[in-house]
Amino acid sequence: MPTTVPTPSLDVASIRRDFPILERKIHGKPLAYLDNTATTQKPASVLKALEDFYRTRNANVHRGVYLLGEEATADYEGAREKVARFVNARAAEDVVFTRGTTESVNLVSNAWGRVNVGKGDVIVSTEMEHHSNLVPWQLLAQERGAILRHIPVDGHGRLDLTDLDRILDGPVKMVSFTWVSNALGTVNPVVELTRRAHAAGALVFVDAAQSVPHMPVDFQATDADFLAFSGHKMLGPTGIGALVAKRKHLEAMPPLFGGGEMIREVTLQHATWADVPSKFEAGTMNYADAIGLGAAIDYLTPLGMDLVHAHGRALACQAMRALQAIPGVTVYGPPIEENRGGVVSFSVDGVHAHDVAGTLDQDGIAVRAGHHCAMPLHARLGVPATARASFTVYNDAAEIDRLAAGVRKVKAVFAR
Ligand code: PMP
Repeated sequence: MPTTVPTPSLDVASIRRDFPILERKIHGKPLAYLDNTATTQKPASVLKALEDFYRTRNANVHRGVYLLGEEATADYEGAREKVARFVNARAAEDVVFTRGTTESVNLVSNAWGRVNVGKGDVIVSTEMEHHSNLVPWQLLAQERGAILRHIPVDGHGRLDLTDLDRILDGPVKMVSFTWVSNALGTVNPVVELTRRAHAAGALVFVDAAQSVPHMPVDFQATDADFLAFSGHKMLGPTGIGALVAKRKHLEAMPPLFGGGEMIREVTLQHATWADVPSKFEAGTMNYADAIGLGAAIDYLTPLGMDLVHAHGRALACQAMRALQAIPGVTVYGPPIEENRGGVVSFSVDGVHAHDVAGTLDQDGIAVRAGHHCAMPLHARLGVPATARASFTVYNDAAEIDRLAAGVRKVKAVFAR
């Protein structure tokens, strides 16, 4: 008899016990937190790492020649090594801690952009970007007289690469795109886009805010020049994230912020810079939350990022099927057979997305409503706002059933 090998999957029941907030009731109902694209909840191990650090090891890093300062520095640099390993950076020094994805984009658009982008140069992005990967490039283009071009999106919310050669023609300096869409879950072909951008002579910036938390990410395999993500979207604390880069770019770029710790020597008229990554980490960094991010990586790694991705995708498929079966509900984004992140955006005929979210909240179900910081994408799709359910490791099939039942209730309430 052939033996069936069970498909490995996450032990969600056990994972759920690690997240204290999931014990909360919302309007008397158990919390179904389905807004993980906006931010994720934190496991007890991350909360404990923060508390332990502040209780027993806190001192400013890179400064104290005393045990406490040395321990804090070791913890901070240890967190940098964890980040480097998690995304397969070439070395820990290629990881710059930032406040998150937004700051990472702004760091590059300012520090790299002001030196490398001039009048008539082209910056390419896409129609599906989060505003944090559009506005910084707009500011740079306005300042330098550069031109912005965007790879269009098709009706299913996928990048349409038909005209890519034309878009990449000319003095293109940077191609900056999201790996996974925060609004639709679309997974973009990072390796192909990077190869074609490099062939056109451009550098590549990957917004990995929705990929590093949810799937295996190998920075070196992408061959991208820069990659950015946020700790709070991957079970870690707010206010910390990273910019990962090829060393040569970090070495060539001037610093963005001046201050303590980013210098080698200072006179009244002049300063020289510390080595990377310190050159980009002026002042007292958010070292405690960096250590918390390290604890989040320690939590995610043993789960297996391939299983984490499969779990998010399975929940997204279940949600798509359940929502598509409800008359009057439209689900956006790539068809179910295609790879996607754990994100499902939808609308209910005749009901505003805010009313959908508000009604679901009464049942303890937290979903996002609006344009999800992707106004151009919503303009392209012709919908001003959608409701969005997004999933991570602690979400389960029962919560998707509750979501579908909640949406049926929305229809019943607003049909009256
Ligand atoms: N890019 C994408 C794809 C995102 O989903 C987000 C957050 N929603 C950001 C960038 C910005 O991240 P942060 O607010 O943490 O800087």
